[in-house]
Amino acid sequence: MADHDFGCTVWGKDWVRLAESLRQTRPDPQLPRARRIARDGGVQVTIDGRIVRAVIHRGRNTSVATIEVAPMSREAIVGISRQLCGVRPVLTDELYRAIADAGHPPAPTLVGVDCSCSADTPRCIHVLAVYYEMARRVDDDPRIALDIQDFFRASSDSAQVSTAVTPQRWIALNALDPSDYFMVSK
Ligand SMILES: [Zn+2]
Repeated sequence: MADHDFGCTVWGKDWVRLAESLRQTRPDPQLPRARRIARDGGVQVTIDGRIVRAVIHRGRNTSVATIEVAPMSREAIVGISRQLCGVRPVLTDELYRAIADAGHPPAPTLVGVDCSCSADTPRCIHVLAVYYEMARRVDDDPRIALDIQDFFRASSDSAQVSTAVTPQRWIALNALDPSDYFMVSK
């Protein structure tokens, strides 16, 4: 079920959906517990490129979870960059919808999930708690949702090589100043 503490932006909601998949037909009894761990500050997250490393404290136990997010496709980066072009982009819910409507829903794709606990499932309570913690972080700063998919690195790289390589194709990226992104929000 929805929880107002997590996913109050559409950007953050993508991470809630990793825990609360629409494909699930039965409620997962771990979810309320995972939310409580995140809400009580039991998840310490470090984001390193596309890798989320998290230390999860639950009672006396400590687990270490690693989640790797796939890099965004070139096509999606170009498509999203076009949506951002022209104004100093603020990552609002409206902009999210515009990006999704243009065919590039910015939801993360996971390429690897691992946890140090003994539960033999990629959906252990620790990993679920990390999804909620990430949802909260992305709610606070939606740039994380793109950054963790290498959007900023890839788009600035493209801008640098674009004049030498394929100016026509990358012309939209040429017009971008990546530093604009980092001026957004708080
Ligand atoms: Zn675990």
